[in-house]
Amino acid sequence: MATSYTMTIDGKAVKGSKSTGVINPASGKVFAEVPDCTKAELDQAMESAQRAFPAWSRDLAARRKVLNDCAAALQTPPEGLARTLTMEQGKPLDKAGQEIMGTAMWCGYTASLDLPTEVLQNTDTNRIEIRRKPVGVVAAITPWNYPLMLAMWKIAPALLAGNTVVLKPSPYTPISTLMLGEILRDIIPPGVLNVVSGGDALGAMMTSHPVPRKISFTGSVATGKRVAAAAAPDLKRITLELGGNDAAIVLSDVDLADVAPKIFWGAFENSGQICSAIKRVYVPEQMYEPMLARLGDLARSVKVGNGLDAGTELGPINNKPQFERVTELVDDAKKHGAKIVSGGSRIGTEGYFFAPTIVGGISDGVRLVDEEQFGPALPIIPYKDVDDAIRRANSTTYGLSGSVWSKDAERGAEVAQQLECGSAWVNQHLAIAPNLPFGGAKWSGIGVENGPWGLLGFTEIQVVNVLKN
Ligand code: NAD
Repeated sequence: MATSYTMTIDGKAVKGSKSTGVINPASGKVFAEVPDCTKAELDQAMESAQRAFPAWSRDLAARRKVLNDCAAALQTPPEGLARTLTMEQGKPLDKAGQEIMGTAMWCGYTASLDLPTEVLQNTDTNRIEIRRKPVGVVAAITPWNYPLMLAMWKIAPALLAGNTVVLKPSPYTPISTLMLGEILRDIIPPGVLNVVSGGDALGAMMTSHPVPRKISFTGSVATGKRVAAAAAPDLKRITLELGGNDAAIVLSDVDLADVAPKIFWGAFENSGQICSAIKRVYVPEQMYEPMLARLGDLARSVKVGNGLDAGTELGPINNKPQFERVTELVDDAKKHGAKIVSGGSRIGTEGYFFAPTIVGGISDGVRLVDEEQFGPALPIIPYKDVDDAIRRANSTTYGLSGSVWSKDAERGAEVAQQLECGSAWVNQHLAIAPNLPFGGAKWSGIGVENGPWGLLGFTEIQVVNVLKN
């Protein structure tokens, strides 16, 4: 199978000298070939990004215009982009369309941000300004759950701030990102955005490469630590958006009929493959059985299938290692006496379909509760008093987000702010927006993305301190 997708290097289409297959998770079979970027091709991408930097970093208004043009182009994406995203990622086609629209929206929003120079002092004798300068070439590395959206979280602020970018998607979902490069290639000047595809080794080559001055990485905690270590020798700047083990704490005053579906979708959207999905639920003892029953009913009612089929609500797990991991964590829970309320095993024999799984009868100390499952299996855990639930929610190295559910929003907020995490939500989960900073506490990350705060992460501070004659 020859690759029909191309990398973008120095504004040109590059087929690459090697290629590798991409698997459709609905079938478990290779359906396309993509370039497997070599060291020499990566060097070309890095060098072109470096060459493009001086001109690109000069004119904010010009950069803003280019990004607005990118947003406009993505509002009318080529036919086939959503379909391809579904085929490589697994998500339902309508959700793939929503991801593309979100990507366009994020780009347009970011293009509207300002990079103001702050004047701290301007007297007869002194003028002191705080300026924000771009860092240089940014190596951007993304995971497989929202390949387009998470790429744009990096591309748009990095470029607006005046940096140039070399972007690498996950080897599980490279095609939509390569297509993004193909779409934007005609809009963005050569070298400013390079898109290369390859495996984990390519990511490691990027993080140890001498050219980039910043790494913007989204992925697992384990890889995030490797990225941080690779950045250390030449002190590259890093932003790390890593995994989570988000707790939802339900308070005793909630209306279960109202809250259960919201919790269900906060956990199972994108088949649970969201860094900040609900990954464990703490419920007051007296509500435990009714909550299990409601979530079990919801899980059984959802249509799981090929994302290309009409009516599919949840697609397969994206890849075999992840499918095996979710299976292993659910099997381990069973060994520890779990009550499988719904699901608990794969669906069919083809592809990586796993039945939405609601698990009771286990508690902290079991892997499904303690680790990040990143898939469609949710443990529900009873608690006696709220302080104990907060303590258990916090007794983890993760700190991405969390939520508290209560009819009393103020009481909810009081509990939520005790959670050790970057986003603390009340009566909602996954409330992520382009104008809000998103990032993790503890091992869930370093730095934030989105909003003015995310933009500033792609800059260095320069103090211009002028003594007037
Ligand atoms: P991963 O860490 O395995 O891979 C992420 C990316 O890093 C891929 O492109 C991969 O090829 C690359 N990579 C692998 N080894 C590398 C190395 N040594 N150096 C540089 N790059 C390397 O993660 P994944 O399985 O693709 O994604 C799932 C994880 O991502 C989950 O833990 C999830 O919570 C996390 N995630 C976090 C956020 C967030 O914003 N905090 C968003 C989405 C996903």
